[in-house]
Amino acid sequence: DRVAAPTLPAVTATATVPLVTGGALGYANLDHAASAPCLEDVRRAVDEFLPYYASVHRGAGFASQVSTKVYERTRDVLRRFAGARLSDAVVFTRNTTDALNLLARSVPRHTSVVLFDTEHHAALLPWRGPNVHRIPLPATRLAAVSAVDSALRACPEGPRLVVVTGASNVTGELLPVAEIAAAARRHGARIALDGAQLAPHRPISLRELDVDYVALSGHKLYAPFGAGALVGRADWLRAADPYLAGGGATKAVRRDGDGIGVAWQSGAERHEAGSPNTVGVYALGVACERLAASWDAVAEHERALLERLRRGLATVPGLAELRLFDGAAERVGTVSFVLDGFDPGWVAAVLSAEYGIGVRDGAFCAHIAVRRLVRRTGREGQQALRVSLGLGTTTEHVDRLVTALRQIVARGARWTYAVVDGRWAP
Ligand code: PMP
Repeated sequence: DRVAAPTLPAVTATATVPLVTGGALGYANLDHAASAPCLEDVRRAVDEFLPYYASVHRGAGFASQVSTKVYERTRDVLRRFAGARLSDAVVFTRNTTDALNLLARSVPRHTSVVLFDTEHHAALLPWRGPNVHRIPLPATRLAAVSAVDSALRACPEGPRLVVVTGASNVTGELLPVAEIAAAARRHGARIALDGAQLAPHRPISLRELDVDYVALSGHKLYAPFGAGALVGRADWLRAADPYLAGGGATKAVRRDGDGIGVAWQSGAERHEAGSPNTVGVYALGVACERLAASWDAVAEHERALLERLRRGLATVPGLAELRLFDGAAERVGTVSFVLDGFDPGWVAAVLSAEYGIGVRDGAFCAHIAVRRLVRRTGREGQQALRVSLGLGTTTEHVDRLVTALRQIVARGARWTYAVVDGRWAP
């Protein structure tokens, strides 16, 4: 090919980085922020557990007892993983969206909620009513903390909650969570962390950050789909109506005149009605333990790849990166950008079909953020491309992407692609 490869910094493989499944397929999955591939250790552990899974809390049989033990023990794993207080609850959910909706249903009536309007829809949308204050995210971290401080000062008396993401799913930039938590405390507010994007890349400690809640997704933490968690203060959860009504959430159910009298559980089971995803919860716990044992290696692997990626992207003509904050920032391996003269969906389709590279295009369930950040680059448009790294990423994947983008720009949009069923296709 006529496009010369740029010179990029080297990445030294770290032996202790946990291995992921699917690495031999030759496909460059640069979409870890959407869902990460399963860890080999998780796959093996699930394989060993499969003969023993049974319904938890419900059976006297051996498999049921094993499953119940595994399920309950995983609450402790999550508590450790999140640096939770001993008194914190761990409620298993389907994913982060489910966990944040559970929290939104559990806050006391008339709670004032403060959040940035650039949040992922899972954090932005569950809150309803006149006491929800969605503030524009300022362009510096310092101003972001002040904006939360001012918004809390203007809140009426009563319970208050700040909701903030740990890392942006659009730009990978870290939010100043500890500083926002300190601002929340000054106003007697609680703070909930959307940990979907931060948890797979950095240790989180509710105690050290002085944060009240964190929501997580297993499928972003190198476990398969279907299990997530809300970890945090037990009191609001204990007082709230059950998230779902049904078996497992009750202590006793009786006829009460013409109606029904229900004594609901007061622990986490109160919000876990129905047969839970025992295998998914186990997988989530194994993934958390494996990551927690490898943070240094994980951080170094991703830091080196991110640097290589960003240096490479800087050599692609007409590429403008989206950024939340001015200035250099700590970030996880997620980068969004627009390419002058190219439709993001078209580029994503070409990357997939011609180069075997999976990226994300669109507005990434953060429509307000993407629209605003694209405008800030001086371009038109409501969509972008997103590349996200993780444990399944190799230097070859990064180099393949950079070369592909340089070739696409050099050749121009002259392959024949059409929109079929709403997607670009060859
Ligand atoms: N918050 C953020 C920051 C996310 O990136 C995502 C997933 N894209 C979510 C919440 C929702 O996660 P899930 O789809 O697993 O519920």
